[in-house]
Amino acid sequence: MAGKKKSKKTRESHPTRPTKPISRLLRLPKGPVNLAKLDTAATPGYPGVGKADAPALTQALAPELSDLQERLYANGRSEPERAPRLLVVLQGMDTSGKGGVIRHAMGLVDPQGIQLTSFKVPTEEERKHHYLWRIRKALPNPGMIGIFDRSQYEDVLVVRVEQLVPVSEWNRRYDEINAFEREVADSGTTIIKCFLHVSFAEQKQRLADRLASPAKYWKYNPKDVDARAKWPAYQEAYTDALERCNTDHAPWFVIPADRKWYRNWAVAQLVREHLIGLNLSWPDATFDVAAEKTRVAKS
Ligand code: AMP
Ligand code: MG
Repeated sequence: MAGKKKSKKTRESHPTRPTKPISRLLRLPKGPVNLAKLDTAATPGYPGVGKADAPALTQALAPELSDLQERLYANGRSEPERAPRLLVVLQGMDTSGKGGVIRHAMGLVDPQGIQLTSFKVPTEEERKHHYLWRIRKALPNPGMIGIFDRSQYEDVLVVRVEQLVPVSEWNRRYDEINAFEREVADSGTTIIKCFLHVSFAEQKQRLADRLASPAKYWKYNPKDVDARAKWPAYQEAYTDALERCNTDHAPWFVIPADRKWYRNWAVAQLVREHLIGLNLSWPDATFDVAAEKTRVAKS
């Protein structure tokens, strides 16, 4: 009885906190992956009752996220050689909500601290280079939060499903990506890879929604239906990317994405937890504070 009361109190005193760290709840365990067994509509760790609470719960993270991001940015400005960086990689099938996450979760912090890159079909120039060339160029600078809307993984996803290169070529990319991510992590970048896991049925609904409103036509791409027709091949390719590139230095998090409100809240939490993990203090003044106070007072 007493125990029950206590746990209720803990919950109430932290109404905006996840019931357990999201970075633990959504971390993809190492080993074989079975995407069909990972619930796309689950809401692990969500402290609210449902959709109605979500905007407030997500917005409640803004002050803390903003403070953490500013510390990161301040460190980047004062000690560029040593300042950490954060890289959020967003992958998922069409309509899974990469754009929604960027707007609603990443939108909670100062845009000046964000380096956003959306990777499209490679341009003519990009095609002249190794597939990691454009990725390297987009890595976040010290003190910055990089966001990849699609990423190096397209080169083992769409490229594999559409057979844009021979099997032997995409097959060796998993190890290459692991080595690349190791190098990025070793240079001081915390990598968070998010797979926005949406169901086949939910994707259909979202495509239909886009066709139901002229305000959403711009989001509709007829090619998405062609990719949808290859759903099993994409799930297989995702399974391999998740399984073969799930390292400690660049872990995968599987975000159940059928409920947009949970997805956005969960990614914001994940970023918050990782920023807290960086243990960022405000940089020391590079000048004599007392002397400067005197100068300003006298000025
Ligand atoms: P969107 O994210 O909706 O703007 O679409 C971007 C498109 O670019 C998607 O269809 C991706 O599959 C495609 N894309 C991204 N990277 C690559 C790549 N390396 N090779 C081929 N297609 C790509
Ligand atoms: Mg699209």
